[in-house]
Amino acid sequence: MKFIYPISVDSYITASYGASMWYGKHRGIDIASKLPNPILILAPHDGHLSYGIHYQWGKYTQIVVPGFKTILAHNKLNGGWLKQNNSFVKAGVPVAVMGNTPGPPWSNGRHLHWQVYEHGVIIDPLTYVKESLTPTEMAIKKVVAAQQKKLDDVLMGDAAGAIDASTGKAYLIKDSKKQELPVKEVLANLYLPWIDKDTLNDIPNK
Ligand SMILES: [Zn+2]
Repeated sequence: MKFIYPISVDSYITASYGASMWYGKHRGIDIASKLPNPILILAPHDGHLSYGIHYQWGKYTQIVVPGFKTILAHNKLNGGWLKQNNSFVKAGVPVAVMGNTPGPPWSNGRHLHWQVYEHGVIIDPLTYVKESLTPTEMAIKKVVAAQQKKLDDVLMGDAAGAIDASTGKAYLIKDSKKQELPVKEVLANLYLPWIDKDTLNDIPNK
């Protein structure tokens, strides 16, 4: 079994496996990103997907395949518009959005807690992260990267419309004129239908 790294944008590990935390040994790895926009979490491996809520993990996604179970925790958003609960997912598809649930003391700031069980025993997820991807995984990664890039362009003002992060105002460029519209309408016009109300709350100063 090999895993895909679950974050495809610039990110960094804030707590490694086995690190000492206030409650004891860290049972997974924590990944955060400085990017201001919603960060998609990808399925690290194929498997049966389900969503849940846990007092330490907040909203979490679970992916199970014979021999392995992955937990992706502290999510802002669990599936819904991304993937159906109780469905089978392929490695690399978006299954959640990075968040900060349930909040302190279990999650201090937006990050992903990735925890893996191999035959019921907790292991370091990085043990199984692979270097190269299959053609299917590469194709999925391209689509995800294109969607993430599109969203970045909207936030940076390089697309045919933008969201001004400092004022929270959104506009479209039509006939070379700036037209101010509700954020939701701008995103729909820019073909980012996978963004929903909850995800928009991640946009700073909205
Ligand atoms: Zn953690």
